[in-house]
Amino acid sequence: MSGISRRNFIQITGGGAAVSTMGFSNILLAGKSAGHVVIIGGGVGGATAARYIKRADPAVQVTIVEPNANYFTCFMSNEVISGERSLDSIKFGYKNLESMGIKVVQDYASNIDAKKKHVVTKKSGNIAYDRCIVSPGVDFKWETIEGYDAEVAATKIPHAWKAGPQTALLHKQLQAMKDGGTVIIAPPPNPFRCPPGPYERACQIAHYLKNNKPKSKILILDAKDKFSKQGLFTQGWKKHYGYGTDNSLIEWVKGAEGGIIEGVDAKTNTITGSVEEYKGDVINVIPAQKAGKIAFNSGLVNDKGWCPVNQQTFESTMHKDVYVIGDSSVASPLPKSGYSANSEAKVCAAAVGASLHGKPAAIPTLVNTCYSLITPDDGISVAMVYNFDGKKIQKVKGSGGLTPMDSSEAMRKREARYAHSWFNNITSDIFGG
Ligand SMILES: Cc1cc2nc3c(=O)[nH]c(=O)nc-3n(C[C@H](O)[C@H](O)[C@H](O)COP(=O)(O)OP(=O)(O)OC[C@H]3O[C@@H](n4cnc5c(N)ncnc54)[C@H](O)[C@@H]3O)c2cc1C
Repeated sequence: MSGISRRNFIQITGGGAAVSTMGFSNILLAGKSAGHVVIIGGGVGGATAARYIKRADPAVQVTIVEPNANYFTCFMSNEVISGERSLDSIKFGYKNLESMGIKVVQDYASNIDAKKKHVVTKKSGNIAYDRCIVSPGVDFKWETIEGYDAEVAATKIPHAWKAGPQTALLHKQLQAMKDGGTVIIAPPPNPFRCPPGPYERACQIAHYLKNNKPKSKILILDAKDKFSKQGLFTQGWKKHYGYGTDNSLIEWVKGAEGGIIEGVDAKTNTITGSVEEYKGDVINVIPAQKAGKIAFNSGLVNDKGWCPVNQQTFESTMHKDVYVIGDSSVASPLPKSGYSANSEAKVCAAAVGASLHGKPAAIPTLVNTCYSLITPDDGISVAMVYNFDGKKIQKVKGSGGLTPMDSSEAMRKREARYAHSWFNNITSDIFGG
């Protein structure tokens, strides 16, 4: 990292999730109603965009359409699975948004009629918009794993890749498992939400097993041959969980060596891999992903199943005045993370505000940091700053970086503390309070 030391960078980005993007003052124009922005999805991207549009210009009418009364963050949900924290601690409501004058309609958006400029909802009729922001997260490609579907995931083999009841189910299954059992985790192929997430989950579960069921094992059946922060994760697995020895708590099978899974039998807890069959006591299959369903219904996706956007504003390249942010959008090289969704939401909020006032969008800067906990006291991270080169988002050379492999225990402990303070900061940036 040049110019700015890694330590300072982490302090800036970890300590203040609101570091982003650009000044809002240039679009803060008071006065008459400046239009209606309808936001589909009250998760990380949607709730952040709503708050930043309203904060910049209270005259803009902002409506969120979201089917659930509460949102459970995926970040820190791995700590719920391992029993380090409660499900309630990752649950957030919309009271603070409503008190800012944001309207929250508890409903499901079925379609966007981009010609008539309205959102079609299940129960609340059509909602007209001047600008529509779509942040529905991901959906799953169920068809890629035989025998695995939404019903099996909800009742027997949770993916827990959307936090909530499945997070609690996976935790309960671990608690009920005998000592000596096998936990199978099957991470998906790229691209997917939270690239380090499955491997942090393996760490969290290993930490639980080490302390509670030490004869047990975790088998990671990976669709890929390499993964995010692999050097740091495997170093941590060696240090804490005996990785690479006969007594390792964790075994990782790469895609090329049989990790790719083809089918699941929920009755017998058997997985059919590309090379052999595996039996597990607790199974966590994370399926391949695509943009949320509303994006498909509304003609916002490309042939790969994700939503192409103008990366300066996040306006869809398929429909004018419709913007897509968060996991569903094509924002690479930004990863599909909550931090990215929060950053993208601020860029989009500013662009939408500018366009409602007939002004040009600013040139954005975006930030991402992803923390992972190897143990509650051993944290690692990857960070990067991004800018817009006139055509697309690109990494800023010399910015960001990884936790050094040779960092001290004290630094790792600090990174774990930063991870938790990042959680507190970003959730209050998204949901207020
Ligand atoms: C285990 C795990 C750990 C993670 N840890 C981190 C981390 O440490 N750091 C990090 O930065 N990121 C992390 N992430 C990733 C992060 O959670 C996502 O990238 C982020 O939530 C994406 O935001 P989003 O707005 O695109 O989607 P979401 O936050 O999922 O929000 C989507 C919302 O849209 C709603 N919705 C969907 N369809 C409709 C519809 N048709 N009508 C109305 N509403 C709809 C949903 O109900 C939901 O509330 C993690 C993910 C997982 C799975």
